[in-house]
Amino acid sequence: MEKKIEYTNGEVTVIWRPEICQHSGICVRTLPQVYNPNERPWVKPQNATTEQLIAQIKMCPSGALRYRMNNEPEQESI
Ligand code: SF4
Repeated sequence: MEKKIEYTNGEVTVIWRPEICQHSGICVRTLPQVYNPNERPWVKPQNATTEQLIAQIKMCPSGALRYRMNNEPEQESI
């Protein structure tokens, strides 16, 4: 099954699919306080607002990043 790793700030959940990620680094350059591949966990969604996280997720070129609002658990969006 496809691997998905989830990170949440309590309001939104960032979903990352490592097998799809192209390691283009756009997320790291856009929100370095959230995405840091040298740290674990490498995604810290609590360091940005939900709006900032969603705007960045939409810039991911591969579709490896998606999100889900925690109050809409069935809905996963790019
Ligand atoms: S922007 Fe998307 S494809 Fe690029 S490194 Fe981040 S998660 Fe991977």
